[in-house]
Amino acid sequence: MRQLPPCPQCGSQYTYEDMTMLVCPECAHEWAADAVDEGIDEGRVITDANGNPLQDGDTVSVTKDLKIKGSSSVIKVGTKVKNIRLIDGDHDIDCKIEGVGAMKLKSEFVKKV
Ligand SMILES: [Zn+2]
Repeated sequence: MRQLPPCPQCGSQYTYEDMTMLVCPECAHEWAADAVDEGIDEGRVITDANGNPLQDGDTVSVTKDLKIKGSSSVIKVGTKVKNIRLIDGDHDIDCKIEGVGAMKLKSEFVKKV
């Protein structure tokens, strides 16, 4: 479960989610949950090798051969990766690669397709 922010109006900790909105049960304030969605810093923009901003759900291709830690497999340059998810950290893309499985990639080694 992710942490919901307190109500911006009254500071209540008992906020809950209603579809895409956050709702405060104490003062009935409702606001959009977008700003707190995903686990990345607010305002942080993750860009690909060409400096294009990436978004959740984008398809990217790998710009260089990437060795997979703990195995002899290599993700070949040009491999397409569908439906990426941006995360916080050194490796800022969470994804699944066909034939490889769940992986974390660095955004500097991919480009948006
Ligand atoms: Zn409130």
